[in-house]
Amino acid sequence: MTAMRFSLARSAAALASALAVSAALAAAPAFAQTSASPLQAAPAPLPADFRIAPKAESFTLDNGLQVIVIPSGSAPVVTQMVWYRVGAADEAPGQSGIAHFLEHLMFHGTTSKPRGYSQELAALGGVENAFTTADYTAYFQSVAKQNLPWVMRYEADRMQNLVLEEKRVNAERDVVLEERRMRIENEPSSRLAEAMNAILYLNHPYRAPVIGWPEEIQALRRETAIAFYDRFYTPNNATVVIAGDVQPAAVRKLAEEIYGPVRRRADPPPRLRPQEPQPPAPRRIELADARAGQPYLRRDYLAPSGVSGKPGEAAALQVLSAVLSGETGRLYRALVTDHSMAAMAGASYDPDMLDYSAFAVYAVPRAGVTMTDLETAMDAVLADIRDGTVPEEELARAKRRLLAGAVYGQDDPGTLARAFGEAAALGRPISEVQDWPGRIAAVQAADVQKVARTYLQPPRSVTGILTTAPAPAAGEAKQP
Ligand SMILES: [Zn+2]
Repeated sequence: MTAMRFSLARSAAALASALAVSAALAAAPAFAQTSASPLQAAPAPLPADFRIAPKAESFTLDNGLQVIVIPSGSAPVVTQMVWYRVGAADEAPGQSGIAHFLEHLMFHGTTSKPRGYSQELAALGGVENAFTTADYTAYFQSVAKQNLPWVMRYEADRMQNLVLEEKRVNAERDVVLEERRMRIENEPSSRLAEAMNAILYLNHPYRAPVIGWPEEIQALRRETAIAFYDRFYTPNNATVVIAGDVQPAAVRKLAEEIYGPVRRRADPPPRLRPQEPQPPAPRRIELADARAGQPYLRRDYLAPSGVSGKPGEAAALQVLSAVLSGETGRLYRALVTDHSMAAMAGASYDPDMLDYSAFAVYAVPRAGVTMTDLETAMDAVLADIRDGTVPEEELARAKRRLLAGAVYGQDDPGTLARAFGEAAALGRPISEVQDWPGRIAAVQAADVQKVARTYLQPPRSVTGILTTAPAPAAGEAKQP
């Protein structure tokens, strides 16, 4: 198999999240240089009206397929991404993992191309990949610009003519189970993240892992995959994003010719999911795994997403996360620099979810420091944010770090395709991405304090502790 595929378990990925509209843009080095002052280590102040990819255009074909074109970069390359507005949180009860399983099966071939496109794509020098989250499934290719029509025909073909053979489907299920073993069961920090996620959400389908529970993956059948494909993989449930060395008019013509004839196969229902009740009490989970390289403390707070939050809340939570994280951030300074209690500490927040997100804080204790002491010190930093103020200079520094990443991401077609496609998959207009810098710039210290007070509340939290000690033998002295 040539294509490397991965699924990003939502919360598990939060620590290394690169998938967010803004997180994708902001994940770039904080010392990114602006083109105006290439020798400066710190970015120059941004113009007040700085917008991301202002030349991006969006249009919709007659069959309902949305197309976004982003002229960007200077190399003669183009990235195509196809985003389906379906993810793990849209799966029927008992079928966890089907969205990600279908993502694998999409590489199996079509009526006219029974062995798929991957080998030819590689021969053309192109690269491809795909990923599934709780809210969407995306596929992408990067190729030399003259191969754009070829990759567009590839995606138009598998959007409607996928062929699934029983034997190969069954073999692919074993690949997914192996992926689960590798990425979750053999990774202590992923096991903890999966367990925390399952208790952070009391009712919402975000509680299930994106890759699925093993027993339910086992039960997935070819028919289940075909039904899921027929229901959700239809042009009116997808967005094609094309970024790089392209002209919008030329892309529109190609899109009409290649994607225009793809028939609508279904009308996917509105994405109405069970909501969370008021959380009753803080929850804790401790996982001992002898394979863990280092102990680890993490806390997730149930938070609104960029879609579900009130205006300005997601931007304030992003700034809050920037105030807390990085080597100049409060958690690092308090736990690592000042008190030498931790080897690492930080925070993360991904606004790019449909219904909820988790605001996470974490720390790795130094040898000899107890989890209790580490947690007490972490709590003191959080209490300081809730009860104190964020000085103007600290606020400005946090915002600059977030925005510097956006400036850096401006030139990378892959980063832009991801940011715009993700927003589209969450039902947001392209202006939401373009205007993101303005929303960050508008955040005031009082907004940061308000979201900290509202959402960093104990009943909204799950605290997870990973220890390296071996687990006690199961059932010992407990069985009658
Ligand atoms: Zn996978």
